[in-house]
Formats: sequence, structure tokens, C-alpha cells
Amino acid sequence: MKIAFDNSFHRMMEGFYAPAEAAPPPAPKLLAFNRPLAERLGIDLTETDDAGLARLFSGAELPGGANPLAFAYAGHQFGHFSPQLGDGRALLLGELVAPDGARFDVQLKGSGPTAFSRNGDGKAAIGPVLREYLVSEAMAAMGVPTTRSLAAVATGDRVQRERGHPGAVLTRIASSHIRVGTFQFFAAHFGADHVAQLSHYSIRRHFPELGEAPNPHLALLDRVIGLQCDLVARWLGIGFIHGVMNTDNIAISGETIDYGPCAFMDRFAAGTVFSSIDATGRYSYGRQPQMMHWNMARFAEALLPAINAVDPEGVEEAKTIVDGIPDRFRSAWLARMRGKLGIAGAFDGEGDLIDGLFEALERHGVDFTGFFRALAALLRGDGAPLAALLPESEAMAPWVADWWQRIEAEAADPVARAAAMDAVNPLYIPRNHRVEAALEAAEGGDMAPWEQLLEVVRHPYAERPEWQDFARPAPEDFGPYTTFC
Ligand code: AMP
Ligand code: MG
Ligand code: MG
Repeated sequence: MKIAFDNSFHRMMEGFYAPAEAAPPPAPKLLAFNRPLAERLGIDLTETDDAGLARLFSGAELPGGANPLAFAYAGHQFGHFSPQLGDGRALLLGELVAPDGARFDVQLKGSGPTAFSRNGDGKAAIGPVLREYLVSEAMAAMGVPTTRSLAAVATGDRVQRERGHPGAVLTRIASSHIRVGTFQFFAAHFGADHVAQLSHYSIRRHFPELGEAPNPHLALLDRVIGLQCDLVARWLGIGFIHGVMNTDNIAISGETIDYGPCAFMDRFAAGTVFSSIDATGRYSYGRQPQMMHWNMARFAEALLPAINAVDPEGVEEAKTIVDGIPDRFRSAWLARMRGKLGIAGAFDGEGDLIDGLFEALERHGVDFTGFFRALAALLRGDGAPLAALLPESEAMAPWVADWWQRIEAEAADPVARAAAMDAVNPLYIPRNHRVEAALEAAEGGDMAPWEQLLEVVRHPYAERPEWQDFARPAPEDFGPYTTFC
């Protein structure tokens, strides 16, 4: 195997990381390998069998050209600032440059302790590793910016959590691992020069066109905010709850990162929380936009010393940009919602129609994912899917009448419109009961249910009769669902 490493962070950002070494796994065994992703990244797999992949993507053997390191970062965790976090159970092998010129981090997660592990063991259990692999690939298939998963390898180790579990290592691919918390670390401990250095590096890597801006740090703030508004609007559009939107889990690339306690909701309820540690509902479904706003205010604060050093007037401008987040988010969200509802253009009263939808979905406990597909079916003249989702078949009739009125005002072909809706509204998401069943089987050594679920969520839109059951919400006896970090 050959990876074209070119480790710019290692080369240019000394002082922003600690060298790291993987703990050798006792018996690495390949659980999953993402061949289409490897191909997209230009990784040459000739002369490497599964045993070789297992060694390379578990830390047993270092691929040529790697310079393993752990990133330093800080972060606000549930509103409280931790000045010292960092990669405690992950190491960056290096950066690769794909055939199209795009640069990606290749990171091992669960490969043993680093300088930043504090009291942690640096390891990962098989369940969370396979959950991240599955959900990140589902997100990618739905067009949501996200880190990707290249490999999952069982280590042969046991990992002690609330009980013992088989250990595993995930290979995570990200356009970078620079987080809001990375900026906070250098703002808190070192000041303007270090923040400016990190900002310049980030701009060169992610947004080279901003390098010429009069105040590049201000331009970076504005761009990252735009990406976060788009990202969270996409999350809301698919019923995704990240679960741990701490500033150390917010990538400046705009990719979804850190799939610890995340999950998708079945029945719509704005206050839905799955994470066992989110006791106050800080990161509930409906609060995600406000929490994104809060996180971006922390990002602005970290950038301020650098913004101010270029031009003190930039500080006021930064405040204006942050204050503009709610409006900016709402227009991104309304656009996404119009797409989901098959409505082409903005119109007066769209906010009322969409707010009314969420109110009605919650009141009737409607399956969020299924609803939008059922609405498209209605355009094709088939009311049965919608009726099947409702407690009584006419429950949504008043809202549907309002929506229908808007649809008729636009005079588009209903069949084409239904097809456009089906192209943005997933039919198959990683349903919680399916994910749990797949992880349980995998923990017992049977990868088949996980592999099948992965295959399904990689094709979120096109209906297949043999996958009918995968579109169904959890059975009533599945009960309330709790996730763990
Ligand atoms: P997270 O909640 O996954 O975003 O992690 C928060 C912080 O805890 C990060 O600095 C992680 O690197 C660290 N961490 C999480 N799990 C472990 C572990 N098992 N061992 C060491 N550090 C960990
Ligand atoms: Mg994290
Ligand atoms: Mg995590």
C-alpha cells in the first residue's frame, strides 16, 4: 500500500501539536474497509491484503511517510471552558493529497494514549467505532459535509467502559481536524501571534481565496459562520441530533465531526435528546441553531486578538457578523425546508407554513423521515403512506391544505416535483433500533447486519422493495433511546 503523504501541519505548525505513537494492538483484524473512499483518495492498495490493511490502520505498522502527532486543543464543554483537551485517543498519521489535489487528514482514533489523554485510556470500543463509520457514511451519502471513515480494525484488546468490550481503531478522514477549540487553545495560552498563524494556515488550507482579504481573520470568521449555518440547516433537515456540540467538536471546515452520542429522531419532537450526558437538553434537536450561534461567538472571541492586530475596527465588524447569525441561519434553513416540501421559490408566509408544519408533526407524533416521502406520494395521488403515519388519517389535513395551496400556486408538474422531493428527502436513515441491533451483532462477532445496514444507508433515496423494513420507524416496544459518548 502507498499513501501520498505530505504533512504540512507537522512541517509548518511546530508547537501546535505533540508527537504521538500508537500502542501496538495485540491481534489486529480488519472489520471494514472503505474501498470506494480509498480509491477517491488515491490510496494504492496493490499488494496489500486484509491482514496488511489491519496492521496499517490499527497502529501495528506505520505507513511510509507518516509523522504521527496529536493535536492540541481546548474547548467549551457544555458551556464550561476546558483550557486543555487535545487528541487524547487519536493520532494524525499525516495528510494525503488526493489525485484531484484535495488534501485530507488521515487519523487513527482509539490507537492508545497521547500527551493529552489525562486519565483516559486512549482506546475505543468496537460499538462506537462502527457507529461512527456507519453514520458518517450515511451522512456523506445524504450530501451532508462530514468526516469519512476509511477503516475499522478490531485490536484484539479489551476496553473497559461500564463493562468490558472488544477494542477497535477507526481511521477517520477529514479535510482537516482544526476545530474552534484549536483556536481557543492558542488564544488562551499564547495570544494574537499564534492565533494569526493558525488562521493563516487554515485559510491557506481551506479557503485560499480569503488570503487577499483586507482582514483575513475577519473573512475566516464570516466564512466559517456561513458553513456552520448551512451545516446545521442540513442536520435539521434530516432529523439529525449531534449530541455534543462542544466547541472542540466544531470543525472549521464545516464538516460534521465527532459521532459520539449522535442519533436520528423517529417521531418529531423539537426537544429530543439522546445523549446520556446531556441532562439539560442543551444540545436537543431544536436548540442546535442557537448552540451553533453560541459556538461561533466563542470562535469570534478566539479570533479577536488577531482581527484587532490587523485593524481595530474589525472588532465591531466581527460583532455585526456574529449578530447576523440568526437571520443567516433562518434563510439557509427556509431554503432547505422549501426543497423538502417541493416548493421552488421563496414566498410570503413561508415561515408560517413551515413553523405550522413542525407544530403539527409534534402534536401528532409523526415519523419525521417518513413524512416527507409520504408528502411526495400525495403529489402522485397516493394518500396511503401519509395516512399510515398518522394517528387518524385526517390529522394533518389543515396543514396539508395550506401546503397544497402553495403547490398549486407554483404550477409545476406534480410528478416531476415529487421526484425532486424524493431526491432530497431520505427514505433510509440509520434508524436507532437498526443501529443497535447491528452493533450488538458485531460485538458478538457477526458483521453481516452492520454490513447490510451500511449498504442500505449508502443509498438513502431510491426505493427498493427488499429494503422496505429499513424505512420503518422503531417498533413501539423499542422504547426510549439513550446514547453514550
Ligand atoms: P469528546 O467528548 O469525544 O469530544 O472528547 C472530549 C475530550 O476527551 C477530547 O480531548 C478527547 O480526546 C478526550 N477523550 C475522550 N475519550 C478518551 C479516552 N478514552 N482516552 C483519552 N482521552 C479521551
Ligand atoms: Mg471530540
Ligand atoms: Mg467523541
